[in-house]
Amino acid sequence: MNISKSRFIDYMQCPKRLWLGSYRKELADETDQTAFQMGTMVGELARDLFPGGVLVEYNDADGRNIANMIDRTSALVAAGEQIIYEAAFSHNGTFAICDILVQNGNACDILEVKASTGVKDVYIADVAFQRHVLESCKIPVSRVYIVHINSGYERHGALDLNELFTREDVTDRADSIRPTIESSLQAALVMSEADGEPDIGIGMHCDDPYTCQFKGHCFSHIPANSVFDLADMHRDKKFKLYESGVITFGDIRESGVRLPGKARIQVDTQLDGTEIVEREKIKGFLDSLWYPLYFLDFETINPAIPLFDGTRPFQQIPTQYSLHCIDSENAQPRHSGFLAEEGTDPRRLLAESLAAEIPQDACVLAYNMTFEKTIIRQLAAMYPDLSESLESIARNMHDLMLPFQNRYLYKKEMRGSHSIKAVLPALFPDDPELSYDNLSGVSNGREASAAYLSLPHMAPEDRKRIRMELMEYCRLDTLAMVRIWEELRRRML
Ligand code: SF4
Repeated sequence: MNISKSRFIDYMQCPKRLWLGSYRKELADETDQTAFQMGTMVGELARDLFPGGVLVEYNDADGRNIANMIDRTSALVAAGEQIIYEAAFSHNGTFAICDILVQNGNACDILEVKASTGVKDVYIADVAFQRHVLESCKIPVSRVYIVHINSGYERHGALDLNELFTREDVTDRADSIRPTIESSLQAALVMSEADGEPDIGIGMHCDDPYTCQFKGHCFSHIPANSVFDLADMHRDKKFKLYESGVITFGDIRESGVRLPGKARIQVDTQLDGTEIVEREKIKGFLDSLWYPLYFLDFETINPAIPLFDGTRPFQQIPTQYSLHCIDSENAQPRHSGFLAEEGTDPRRLLAESLAAEIPQDACVLAYNMTFEKTIIRQLAAMYPDLSESLESIARNMHDLMLPFQNRYLYKKEMRGSHSIKAVLPALFPDDPELSYDNLSGVSNGREASAAYLSLPHMAPEDRKRIRMELMEYCRLDTLAMVRIWEELRRRML
């Protein structure tokens, strides 16, 4: 079995990850492709830092024909092609693809592109592995670089790739781990041929440096309501408890281990079947609100490559909001929403719409309001003519998450979380209108962001459908807030 760059990185994280990825792929958890797609897009854009190169294509039904790629690369290197994208090399069971290879006379430079804002240790192992494979192929390597996103870049006009990307020379760091790479590679080759699943237990390594795709498999012996479900406790502490044999909530109680406040509440409510209702505190929270009462939720995109003037890499850009309003005591909630046209800078129209819809004296509820407030204050800073209206929205904002975050109301079904996705089904377990699972398409923020970004590339009928799904999803977020607020009031009767 070949050890590719990604298999090698899997091995460095956990030998069992390499083995499962080689022989039991079907055990992998479903993974989100968004980060992968973003990485591909950033990698392709970075090629323009070195224009005029030749791309070694992936060219078979599975997406790539390794043997063809290696032959093609070999011919390009021999012909002295100066810049090669996706250059592929193999030697004695090892295999590497370099994002960008630059030949300088008798040696070459390797450039690895990352859709990240800095250099991580795992990237050094990545390029050190590539260099090892090339040198094994008798191709001298001069320098190795990580090309990553410059978080300080602000777009104005056309993208300035030399400002968007930062090129860091990591040759010395790659040199320093050369012996580790060589010995680990030998061990990885042995592991890749092992007969059975390695006996390696779960631990901190399961999320470091990446969340392993086999957690579903390796954690399958952990029962529900275990130390791993505890709120507000560092993973390190959870694994210490696990390793000492304290796994279930029952074990925790029996062992007498001391827990931080929220974790203790979680264990007690679960084991005793109780719930927490701090009536005075809930009443105090509700009394701090007034009519008209608005419930606001944003959806955003945060592209690695800034799309609009005045934005930075990974900046949160609002594209959509949902608003429910209750004008007075006993009034029915009314709904409105905004979804920007795809492919345009959404901020000005969204800010205008928001300022026009929410009166300056209104009370505004958001769930986890830090996010909404930050977005609104950014808009206020951008548009002085709207700043008074927008600042008043931010100033009059209250956080509906607070009663749950502070455990004024807590049910065991919240499983230690105060996110709206945990609170809602705990309070309304049988209400199909309030179930995100019943949405026909987009059903979480990550999907909403990915769907919005792909709208410009869709056929008109698909675009129409996805826009409806986005509106429905965002509407459910504020409808959920209305129902939660009503439930808090009901409990005060
Ligand atoms: S879940 Fe943990 S133990 Fe299992 S393969 Fe992944 S890293 Fe290894």
